[in-house]
Amino acid sequence: MKYYDKLIFELSRPGRKGYHLPADCYGVEALKEIPSDLLRKEDPELPEVSELDVVRHYTNLSSKNFGVDTGFYPLGSCTMKYNPKINEELAAMPEFAALHPLQPAESAQGALELYYNLQKALSNIAGLAEFTLNPYAGAHGELTGLMVMRQYHIARGDEKRRKVIVPDSAHGTNPASAMVAGLEVVEVKSKPNGSIDVEDLKPLLDDTVAGIMMTNPNTLGMFETEIMEIARLVHEAGGLLYYDGANLNPMLGKVRPGDMGFDIMHINLHKTFSTPHGGGGPGSGPVGVAAHLVDFLPNPRVKKDENGKFYIENGDKSLGSISSFLGNFGVMMKAYAYILSLGKENLKNVGPMATLNANYIKESLKDDYLLPIEGACKHEFVFDGLKDKSTGVTTLNVAKRLLDYGFHAPTIYFPLLFHESMMIEPTETESKETLDEFIEVMHKVAKEAKEDPEMVKQAPHTTLISHPDETTAAKKPVLSYRQMKG
Ligand SMILES: *Cc1c(COP(=O)(O)O)cnc(C)c1O
Repeated sequence: MKYYDKLIFELSRPGRKGYHLPADCYGVEALKEIPSDLLRKEDPELPEVSELDVVRHYTNLSSKNFGVDTGFYPLGSCTMKYNPKINEELAAMPEFAALHPLQPAESAQGALELYYNLQKALSNIAGLAEFTLNPYAGAHGELTGLMVMRQYHIARGDEKRRKVIVPDSAHGTNPASAMVAGLEVVEVKSKPNGSIDVEDLKPLLDDTVAGIMMTNPNTLGMFETEIMEIARLVHEAGGLLYYDGANLNPMLGKVRPGDMGFDIMHINLHKTFSTPHGGGGPGSGPVGVAAHLVDFLPNPRVKKDENGKFYIENGDKSLGSISSFLGNFGVMMKAYAYILSLGKENLKNVGPMATLNANYIKESLKDDYLLPIEGACKHEFVFDGLKDKSTGVTTLNVAKRLLDYGFHAPTIYFPLLFHESMMIEPTETESKETLDEFIEVMHKVAKEAKEDPEMVKQAPHTTLISHPDETTAAKKPVLSYRQMKG
């Protein structure tokens, strides 16, 4: 173990300092205008460290982290594709980044145009009438979309429609968002191949149905072939169809949710449209709706007048405001840059390439890993752990062993349909060489599980922390070095 492999956070020694030239003199001048009774009397309690201490601390910490920039990250349902650096450069342009949200619209025409154009681009991609870019994340988009759904029924005097149908394979945020929106969740069963059981759906469709939430391809990466029939049944019963488009990746340029009969959807810009999202944000969850729902979209909205000028409007039928101002603008810039840099033709290749990569891994590994659903998948697929269960090596053990080989683990124990779920999504940005290395290592781990199961169960052997108590880590995180001291 190298000396810096120890987790030492207390580096402060009285009197140690680092030096930095001021970026500008503005801050110093402005300080003079702050009334003296509002000025801090004592120095803040900050660590006293030398520049070298800081540089080594953060450089070493960063090397203990794992990201898309470090290696392959096949985390299913999360679309950990590579995020081109040009997006970051553009999003950091001070002309946009330094705008103030209360600035008059006349002085922010470029930003409003970008918002407007991105909204239109997403509408085209989705086959829907209009989008709002205001929601901050996927789950927030779901909540917004469900509020649109609720608002639509209320506006028609159909108050009793509160039931939202959610498949048992759904992402956990779907039922959670419906509950937060004050709606009731009713589960519909999946068939063994992961698609919705239409016979199970029919009896649920009465005059209390607000709508159904679906994702297509479903969480098993399988395309819902009966979608047109499902759409017909739900619409006939007076309900709306909500599409969870967090991972729009497999559909890009191939199929549009609007054409499948969906009325409302959200897209995660921080998955499909290449914004880094490993650390939990910032994200963006635009919501698109069909023409009959446009008036209910949240305020504020960006509009264009006949002279080509952009302005902000608050509609009176709107469900109200769900974010401060227009949402996470930096994320929109990255998505816009991504869409324009790929262009229409290349965007059409994203889905097929992601699908090809997923099928390549699936077919290459199904001799060692249990594939519960045969057939072509879309951008991701699920194994039910190792084929040979006699060794007692679990999906968790395999996931941990992958870390020793420098790969991020797949999503594990989701979806809940199988005991040993292992959900793999390679994305389109990985080369064949990377996929082959991953396949080789997965075979190797399967072999190790047979020959030395105990070693695999003890993995990882190379990381600084190997088996944290995950519940405590999530529920009682230690977020500051001071807490560690105390
Ligand atoms: C990621 C994801 C969500 C939630 O998105 P957040 O931005 O994390 O809130 C919802 N549904 C599916 C299918 C997802 O993969």
